Amino acid sequence: MDITFLGTGTSHGIPVVGCSCAVCGSADSRDTRWRSSVLVRGRSGESLLVDAGPKFRLQALRAGIDRLDAVFLTHAHADHIHGLDDLRPLTVRAPLPVYGNAEAVAELRERFSYVFRETQRGGGKPRLITSVVRDEVAAGSVRIRAIPVKHGGLDILGWKFIADGASFAYVTDASRIDQASFGELRGLDLLVLGALRARPHATHMSFGEAAEVIRAAAPARALVTHLCHEHTHAEAEEYFRNLGILCGKGEAIEPAWDGLRVSFSN
Ligand SMILES: [Zn+2]
Ligand SMILES: [Zn+2]
Ligand SMILES: [Zn+2]
Repeated sequence: MDITFLGTGTSHGIPVVGCSCAVCGSADSRDTRWRSSVLVRGRSGESLLVDAGPKFRLQALRAGIDRLDAVFLTHAHADHIHGLDDLRPLTVRAPLPVYGNAEAVAELRERFSYVFRETQRGGGKPRLITSVVRDEVAAGSVRIRAIPVKHGGLDILGWKFIADGASFAYVTDASRIDQASFGELRGLDLLVLGALRARPHATHMSFGEAAEVIRAAAPARALVTHLCHEHTHAEAEEYFRNLGILCGKGEAIEPAWDGLRVSFSN
């Protein structure tokens, strides 16, 4: 199993339109952060996407995506689903399953209502089959478990991928994780958590809050994503290094960046 970060930025994307801050003007390529999304590939060629934000088309071209077997939605905020129409070319051969919780699926079907009703011939539409996941689904040899978490007052999902003896969880936009869901996050090979910035935020974990979850979950490796433009990549990296929390492989928590690829050898 390997994963590719298609985007690691917060809802605006970075640089933010009209912003002249040091991060938005940074020459470090890791400070350009498109909307948060990951691609997960299984050993048998399974190709699984988590979220499809406004720049999905460019993310897919950049990552060389030529097929998808399923899409997993964390929630229906614009920065996570408004690229869904760009899935069209990947649904020509077969309709694409899209999984989420009941709220996300209902919102998707409302906002993309044209996809699910009869329209005139000749107009291209993505062929999506939505399903509500309450527990677990499989895609080839990959097991995918839904992890309910809170995003402010909203019920959203994190996703845990288990394949070839490796386990990884992707939990973005969460502000609170209850005990039952936290149990799913213990002892992973890789834990990816959304962490907006050092300052607290009402609906997202701060760097410090995410670090506490990571410390308690004790993964072999930990990365944070969905960063805003308050810190350069280098500053975020230093922030986490200074916390002194070491993951199982002896590495500090790291901010992810667009294009980062992580492979599990086991
Ligand atoms: Zn978001
Ligand atoms: Zn900025
Ligand atoms: Zn959100």
